[in-house]
Amino acid sequence: TSVLSDRILTMQESQTIAMAKKSRELAAQGVDVINLSFGEPDFQTPQYIKDAAKAALDEGYTFYTPVPGYPELRQAICDKLKRDNNLDYKNENIVVSTGAKQSLANAVLSLVNPGDEVIVFAPYWVSYTEIVKLAEGVVVELVGSIENDFKVTAAELEAAITPRTKLIMYSSPCNPTGSVFSRDDLAAIADVVARHEQVHVLADEIYEYINFVGDHASIAQFSDIKDRVITVNGFSKGYAMTGWRVGYIAAHKDIASACEKIQSQITSGTCSIAQRAALAALKGGRASADEMVEAYHRRRDLVLEMAKEIPGLRTPTPSGAFYVFPDVSSFFGKTAPDGQVIENAYDLALFILRDAHVSCVDGRAFGAPNCIRFSTAAADEKLRDAFTRIKKSLATLV
Ligand code: PLP
Repeated sequence: TSVLSDRILTMQESQTIAMAKKSRELAAQGVDVINLSFGEPDFQTPQYIKDAAKAALDEGYTFYTPVPGYPELRQAICDKLKRDNNLDYKNENIVVSTGAKQSLANAVLSLVNPGDEVIVFAPYWVSYTEIVKLAEGVVVELVGSIENDFKVTAAELEAAITPRTKLIMYSSPCNPTGSVFSRDDLAAIADVVARHEQVHVLADEIYEYINFVGDHASIAQFSDIKDRVITVNGFSKGYAMTGWRVGYIAAHKDIASACEKIQSQITSGTCSIAQRAALAALKGGRASADEMVEAYHRRRDLVLEMAKEIPGLRTPTPSGAFYVFPDVSSFFGKTAPDGQVIENAYDLALFILRDAHVSCVDGRAFGAPNCIRFSTAAADEKLRDAFTRIKKSLATLV
């Protein structure tokens, strides 16, 4: 028996972090590893945001912050939600947290009772299922088909809902697939949700700005279900601020108050300096994000073009975020030159690391065991080099 709680024993270590660790170990031995396993912009935080953080220190922003965030930051978030998403919220609806990850955890812990079912659209971001388990909810994975760009349809959702369904969770643009729900997709999903009064929606829009199709839709825009939608967003991806740890939710005030209550007992308000930086980020609008998105778009095209030249990879075209997520099941059962049989996507990811010295993450942790994820948030030359190596390595499998 273990001294540790059942709660922690049923939780998995983050697979993305585990793979990054392996690639760092190889790099430490002097191997030139190209790391495409991380979900992180390779850009520095824009200078005007850094300047605001420096000013915050000089201006004395060193005290505890209000638990749901500085009022001026929450107001700026309301302004952003109006400007970008045509959503009307007040400060009482906004809770700022230590990254969108905490926002997600707050929301799940606020809504889910032990035994409640949470429908997680798969492929999903790795932490969703683990957070639901932490809340003792029952994870119901609903897998979107590759033919539909991995997007779950309204009909599939309808079929998965039971009287115990409390919450559905997804990201759009999606990590890991890059799929983006259109307004029509979400209208159909909202219709289903409207028919089931006990069902809430946790809509993770952290990749909102990294969108190559140009039309970001929020399910909270469907007013008949708005009170049951929790929109999650943050600064990590759009503003290249992963290390600063600022995310937020917009929700009905009762749900927002519940999230605030949990946060008040676990972390308190997020870092004062990071909040001042986030405020400056929002005041600067989308210009800095747009510049980065141009690069992500170009790299997506570059990677897709190279991936299409590699026999055996089936790579849908991502509409947003900074990943490609090819189906690699055609390699299962093949043998590497060192005699290793590739049984599954994990074996293939390890082979690619060992042979091509490129790190990626296999799809199991995303609920997609036939796929592997490559980040495209790396310099163009690195991506070119990586996919040249991958092509060469995969060609040696027989
Ligand atoms: N949601 C998704 C879909 C993500 O990919 C990530 C980060 O990888 C997060 C949330 C967490 O973001 P944050 O850095 O704000 O905690």
